[in-house]
Amino acid sequence: MSEGKKYVYGFEEGDGQNKMLLGGKGANLCEMTQIGLNVPPGFTITTEACLTYLDNPDRELPAGVMDQVREQMRNVEANTGKTFGGSENPLLVSVRSGSAMSMPGMMDTILNLGLNATTLKGVIAQTGNERFAYDSYRRFVQLFGKVALGVPDEAFDAEFEDVKKKAGVKQDLGLSARDLHEIADRFLDVVERETGRSFPDDPMEQLEIAVKAVFNSWMGKRAVDYRREFKITPDMANGTAVNVQTMVFGNMGNDSATGVGFTRDAGTGENVMYGEYLTNAQGEDVVAGIRTPKPVAMLADEMPEQYKGLVALRNKLESHYREVQDYEYTIEKGRLFCLQTRNGKMNATALVRTSVEMVREGLINKEQALLRIQPEMLEQLLFPQLDPSVTATPMARGLPASPGAAIGHAVFDADRAEVLGRGGQRVILVREETKPEDIHGFFASQGILTSRGGKTSHAAVVARGMGKPCVAGAEGIHVDVQMRKAFVGGATISEGDLITIDGTSGDVYLGEVAMKEAEFSAELDTLLGWADEFAQLEVMANADTPDDAARAVEFGAKGIGLCRTERMFNAVERLPLVVEMILAENTGDRQAALDKLLPIQRGDFKGMLKAMAGKPVTVRLLDPPIHEFLPSEHQLEEELEQLVHLRETVAGMNVLSDAVEFMYRTADTHPSVDRLADPRLVDEAIEKKETMLRKVRALSEVNPMLGHRGVRLGITFPEIYSMQIRAVLEAAAECTREGLDVYPEIMVPQVCTKQELLAVKRIVDSVKQAVETHYGVEVNFKFGSMLEVARACMRAESMAEVAEFFSFGTNDLTQATFSFSREDAENKFLPLYNEAGILQDNPFEVLDVKGVGKIMELAVGWGRTTRAGMKMGICGEHGGHPASIGFCHRIGLTYVSCSGPRVPVARLAAAHAALTDDTAHAGAQSV
Ligand code: PEP
Ligand code: MG
Repeated sequence: MSEGKKYVYGFEEGDGQNKMLLGGKGANLCEMTQIGLNVPPGFTITTEACLTYLDNPDRELPAGVMDQVREQMRNVEANTGKTFGGSENPLLVSVRSGSAMSMPGMMDTILNLGLNATTLKGVIAQTGNERFAYDSYRRFVQLFGKVALGVPDEAFDAEFEDVKKKAGVKQDLGLSARDLHEIADRFLDVVERETGRSFPDDPMEQLEIAVKAVFNSWMGKRAVDYRREFKITPDMANGTAVNVQTMVFGNMGNDSATGVGFTRDAGTGENVMYGEYLTNAQGEDVVAGIRTPKPVAMLADEMPEQYKGLVALRNKLESHYREVQDYEYTIEKGRLFCLQTRNGKMNATALVRTSVEMVREGLINKEQALLRIQPEMLEQLLFPQLDPSVTATPMARGLPASPGAAIGHAVFDADRAEVLGRGGQRVILVREETKPEDIHGFFASQGILTSRGGKTSHAAVVARGMGKPCVAGAEGIHVDVQMRKAFVGGATISEGDLITIDGTSGDVYLGEVAMKEAEFSAELDTLLGWADEFAQLEVMANADTPDDAARAVEFGAKGIGLCRTERMFNAVERLPLVVEMILAENTGDRQAALDKLLPIQRGDFKGMLKAMAGKPVTVRLLDPPIHEFLPSEHQLEEELEQLVHLRETVAGMNVLSDAVEFMYRTADTHPSVDRLADPRLVDEAIEKKETMLRKVRALSEVNPMLGHRGVRLGITFPEIYSMQIRAVLEAAAECTREGLDVYPEIMVPQVCTKQELLAVKRIVDSVKQAVETHYGVEVNFKFGSMLEVARACMRAESMAEVAEFFSFGTNDLTQATFSFSREDAENKFLPLYNEAGILQDNPFEVLDVKGVGKIMELAVGWGRTTRAGMKMGICGEHGGHPASIGFCHRIGLTYVSCSGPRVPVARLAAAHAALTDDTAHAGAQSV
């Protein structure tokens, strides 16, 4: 490593765009300084210094770093007129981490660095505020002790509480300068006791230790867990920078304040001043939720001049960054400083609204509006809300910190929430306030409830980022973690009790309150309309009922890409007909059962075609092995055993009845014995069950998913497919006669040869002719094939001679490509494979682009060699996964099809795919 390397940049010289080197915060501080915001002076030590330091087994800072720090410190001294370690006008600094990706609260921060006996005197002389000076000092000793020297908080807390008790005060604000002085002295003793050495006095030594501590925190458990959870890889953020910045004080009296703000409402996205502040306080008081802060609107009355300055700051931030900013500020003796700003993390509601409004305000264009929202986030908008027609009385009310409603069992610590949540229970994490170390509890919970803290407290910020409902600062609730209970007025929430929280209103309810499906907002509609303008892929829905189809249209589906007809057979009134069809011993009996099913299926298809009028409806012929409609062999054996017992019991009861009759023949009265059942009925039931058992045994297969299913079934029992094809075409003919514009498509599953397709096509052709003759109308439809068998993909060129469209069934195709059973892999070995890094993702969730995707890409090319511009789509689960959708776009598919509620996600993902594709695919086709 060259000694001449530059590791430290002043805010006025660093490259504001180089986040990898300076971290997001550092780069921003440079940019903010350079655009003329009133930023307290400082400098940034690079991520490169961090990585070099972490690589060094002796944990020494790279050569030259401290010299450059000293040089920068001289600049800051010159800028501020203060002296680091000076007794007259001492310079104190904050030391903060900051990597290329924002990781709120995941790494450590030290404030008031530079305080010691000498500088403390200077602060007292300068401010005339002894209380403030000792307050700053005790905060610094504790933070430095904890973060840099590893002294546990409890050791300090015990002393703090002790002094508070001695002084007879309840609130920290009630402590006098003397009390705080005593606390600071006790804290210095705590450090000496716990570490075996006295607290470092030399400010430069403090700074060096602090820089190392921040670097070390990059590899701390919290930060590592966070990166793993949010899949932050080294090419996204590698190491943390350290920002050293002049301290400004919000706790210098009532003309001082500290606050955090969003340039728009972070919950709703509304274009208003938004945030909270505390007078006479330090920044950490707001974020940690130690005191409940005031809404920023109150600042307009309390400090009108500074409020005006804040509005100007906010406007400057937005017009410069063209993105909603999350900023921190301090007012020191009436002077407003902007401490930091970053892109605001928002929930989906706010993201969508701000996207649409910022386009209308001319701040950004449509492309930017679409790209600033990760498609997955839209799922949040489909979260249930409390049903407004239900009038439940809340037991408590807090701040609406992150919208959406959630129901779960109350749990009072993060570890327990994790255990129960992973076990499949719905839990709500209930805390007085949350800390970064609670993060694993957030992941496992449906929602978060805290009794302290504001809308920008840790709980609120983290929950919003995750899109989880959160009610914060519900002060009417007293949480007792030891007792694992919370008390609200006269009521008690015990651990395990069901509670409902409404993060949109801030209400908390005991028990379960009815929820209502979310609805599309006008802004979301607009945004998705823009998405459709850019997307090349059409987004279809997988839907099996007319109701699902209608919902899919509301979500913006351009058609039905997969209707799994077997799901229509499972309704209670239909199953007996299906069973009758399966049990039939000859074609005639089977046909009789199918004749009863025909009008039912026709009705279903008519409903779907009507719901989707003007759009394609792809009906897949029966796919699963038919024994799936029958009870299992084991169940039938048990039932038979019971029936045989019953037969003996019935016979015994009949004997008893006859005997009683005989014994009391001459008596005036005699006891009566009920005959349990008609023995013929029992015999009939036994016979039916035996027939069914024989059939189940006959149909039993070692490997049913690779056995007698799909087109194989259709070829061996052509009357089944024939009925389904007739139902589709008759439904279409009836709709056409009613003047509707319908586009049915018939799709064959599990095909592996062209001959199979031809066999089904022959049925289709003859049914078509019969239906057209009968109805006197022409029936237009497409005939196509699933591609979900490896061989079919390899023979796509030949398959395309018969099929007019292909739909990749990537659930089965993944199974076939990996030879992983899709029923077993996910709960057997896949988690281990992921953990061990053998596979990066679950291939049933995220399309395996390298293997399965390669086969798809080849099949697309081969298919279109035969049939230019052939319509091709995907209907496996991957059709709703954003990254997989990106791949589908790149290989030139025509459409993706996914479950209804994923449609908005897929529409946005399709737009992202098009907008981020700089080699616009020549093969992309429209329907
Ligand atoms: C598929 O295999 O991807 C598919 C859509 O069919 P199913 O999941 O019904 O087997
Ligand atoms: Mg399949």
